[in-house]
Amino acid sequence: MAFYQQLPEDLFAKFETSKNGLTQSEAQERLKKFGPNALQEKKKKPAWVLFLAQFKDFMILILAAAAVISGIVGDLTDTIIILVILVLNAVLGFVQEYRAEKAMDSLKKLTETQTKVFRDGQLITVPSRDLVPGDVVTLEAGNMVPADLRLIDTFSLKIDESSLTGESVPIDKQNGVLEGENLNPGDQLNMAFKGTLVTNGRANGLVVATGMSTEIGKIASLLQENPPVTPLQQRMQRFGKVISVIILGICAVLFASGIARGEEILPVLLLSVSLAVAAIPEALPALITIALSLGAGRLAKKKALVRKLPAVESLGSVTYICTDKTGTLTQNKMTVTETEAFHQAPISSEFSNLQLGLGLCHDVHLDKKGRPEGESTEVALVERILQELTSTQYQNLAENYPRVGEVPFDSSRKRMSTFHQVGNQFLMLCKGAPEAISSILKDKDQARQLHQSAEDWANRGERVLAFAGKILSNLPPEADWLGLESDLDFYGKVGMIDPPREEVKLAISECKTAGIHPVMITGDHPATARAIAEAVGIWKKGDLVLTGAELGNLSDEAFSQQVEQVTVYARVAPEQKLRIVQALQQKGHFAAMTGDGVNDAPSLKAANIGVAMGIAGTDVSKEAAHLILLDDNFSTIVRAVKEGRRIYDNIVKFVKYIMTCNGAEIWTIGLAPFLGFPNPLLPIHILWINLVTDGLPALALASERAEKDAMKRPPRPPKQSLFANGVGYHIIWVGMLMAGVTLFTQYWAIKNGWHWQTMVFSVLAFSQLGHVLAVRSDRTFLFQQGFLSNKPLLLAVGATFMLQLGVIYLPFMNPIFRTEPLDLEELLFSGAIALVVFHAVEVEKWVRSRFFPVKKT
Ligand code: ATP
Repeated sequence: MAFYQQLPEDLFAKFETSKNGLTQSEAQERLKKFGPNALQEKKKKPAWVLFLAQFKDFMILILAAAAVISGIVGDLTDTIIILVILVLNAVLGFVQEYRAEKAMDSLKKLTETQTKVFRDGQLITVPSRDLVPGDVVTLEAGNMVPADLRLIDTFSLKIDESSLTGESVPIDKQNGVLEGENLNPGDQLNMAFKGTLVTNGRANGLVVATGMSTEIGKIASLLQENPPVTPLQQRMQRFGKVISVIILGICAVLFASGIARGEEILPVLLLSVSLAVAAIPEALPALITIALSLGAGRLAKKKALVRKLPAVESLGSVTYICTDKTGTLTQNKMTVTETEAFHQAPISSEFSNLQLGLGLCHDVHLDKKGRPEGESTEVALVERILQELTSTQYQNLAENYPRVGEVPFDSSRKRMSTFHQVGNQFLMLCKGAPEAISSILKDKDQARQLHQSAEDWANRGERVLAFAGKILSNLPPEADWLGLESDLDFYGKVGMIDPPREEVKLAISECKTAGIHPVMITGDHPATARAIAEAVGIWKKGDLVLTGAELGNLSDEAFSQQVEQVTVYARVAPEQKLRIVQALQQKGHFAAMTGDGVNDAPSLKAANIGVAMGIAGTDVSKEAAHLILLDDNFSTIVRAVKEGRRIYDNIVKFVKYIMTCNGAEIWTIGLAPFLGFPNPLLPIHILWINLVTDGLPALALASERAEKDAMKRPPRPPKQSLFANGVGYHIIWVGMLMAGVTLFTQYWAIKNGWHWQTMVFSVLAFSQLGHVLAVRSDRTFLFQQGFLSNKPLLLAVGATFMLQLGVIYLPFMNPIFRTEPLDLEELLFSGAIALVVFHAVEVEKWVRSRFFPVKKT
């Protein structure tokens, strides 16, 4: 019999458990037996496969083949050294890829969900992967279902099963036994399945299957998604194809002209193939992935957890940040600052009516130490009443006026009511937003006054709550309670503040200099919202404040005309956030949007960067988000944007660095015959420079700090090419310059009877070292930036320099690399002429700053 056909009691017996769950020790036993409640990941490639994969590159295979053939017919030294270089290159690639994979793995661990489960009869929170069959768990709106469950108790439970069944409308769940054989998961209404999302209500459920035995586990092989390709990678792949064809063309021409000049086939072939291997930027897409993954690791250290890799590169393009107020901009620590009791006929001789409201109309509990626990607004109210009353008085209050019913708070009504027994009568208490209370007061003058005075308080940034109530002679059935919210007497109001987080003001001003518009979206009163927005610098005179109601009345077109002037949205329903995102996107903006609730999921998905809260956020919102803030703090978003800009800048830098060198080699080898020079570089020289000496400095460029102006320039257009802003020109002209310097060296050295080939080889390698130091910044000179400010790079440059000297001066290297030890004059000449490139790029910075200043925001 299937689980859905059985009674919970029978299943308890079958799983040897009960409503109160398992004991901790039994759960541990079962965890050993059943394994963790996790979907098996795609089998990890073992390290050696990852290593071998570095060779699967088509051009590398051709090169290896060419080397082997030339070894068989001619010289074995070449073959061996080429193979050694290929191995070195593979080691570098492997280490990088391995590091990147590790970084992504540790990010995954951070996103693991938690579940509330009964163990030893107590409700505790455990990582979802520790659940075992027989556990009894609770679900509430916003949770992700942690395992396959037979539902025991359900209260208005709705589950979004689209991840499993494709059905996008949430399903109403129940707990009764179902008939019928072989029902589809979608029809098993008394079951909840791992990976689906609770959108409404709550429930308890018995875990009947975990990990790969769950429904989703059975089809998990279908779900193993490949990591999404980022826009940058896509562009790079397309570009890579085009450039490969061009380079192959050039190499073919070189080969043909070599043959035409009557050179031997094999050496020319090896040279052409080596050049192709060196110059084709095949590794770039992979390098970009690695840079992004490592960037994601760094972002996590800054408390921004990346869920979707493309977010790392697109962070730098954000033009709008739409943020919640409470908890994100503010500390979510409310304190009552003023109370105003309205003197109505007192109900109690001991307490004012407002005190009754404050003391009774809430869901706060006192913990063991007598500290109030609950929702922050209500905690503030109870903290206040505990200042006015002794704790015995406070307890008396609850005992003398026992609660017999309630209409819970919801954010569309913006109020809540409770019912209390007083002798043989009933006291109804109601609290809520001022406008939500004034609309249900008996006395219309009082209503008007409340409205007015609340506005004054709100203008000071206070959240105002109003209290009202009435005496009922009898309590009607529950269905009619909502209808009792009318004709109330006014009891008073309280104002409370939730101070902004200290660091937020700075973050907002940083946003603005970075060309990013911060916008507040809140359920709070427009005046309160505006005052706080003004205090943190989001709102200034002239900006619009739009309420949810006003937004509802605007046509899409009218809204689109205003959307860029609005900096505060107040009294907004979560569903309306989607409209805000869409309107901004239509205007061509790249919007980040924060959210924490179930209803925020659509807007988080639609936003260019959906940002969920790590602490207060629901699983549902985290699932939908691209980025999770581990500290729920607005300034973390800004820090992430800065880091995103830095990561992107550094990617541009290493692309610039690598491609310039490739260009230089092509120019050098391509032009030499036309100048009547002998072939300037041997295949091993090219491979050595590209695959070894270029590699270390390129990696170290990723450690470059953010540019000084990283947060002072406008966001990068998301579709902007990697070669924009002069990068393309740089690659071409610096490549040509480097080739010019190299060819001049060849000419001069031949003329002087120097060891010209070793010099040509060294000048090219040294030029690249100078180039990498200059390319560290787009506009800041090296001396301003500080020679020592990127230590890994300095180390890489130092190591590479030593390697090059080794190749020149170690006797056993000479026959391998066909080098000869240079005398001092030759070495100094090579070093000095290589510095030309460094200085030229520094001058380029000056020209750029002088004639092409960055648009300041
Ligand atoms: P934000 O969007 O900034 O986080 P919020 O989430 O607090 O604001 P809601 O929770 O939707 O906004 O609350 C809307 C309004 O309802 C509040 O401004 C307040 O006036 C009122 N309110 C909030 N909590 C309660 C409560 N427990 N009882 C009665 N009224 C409340």
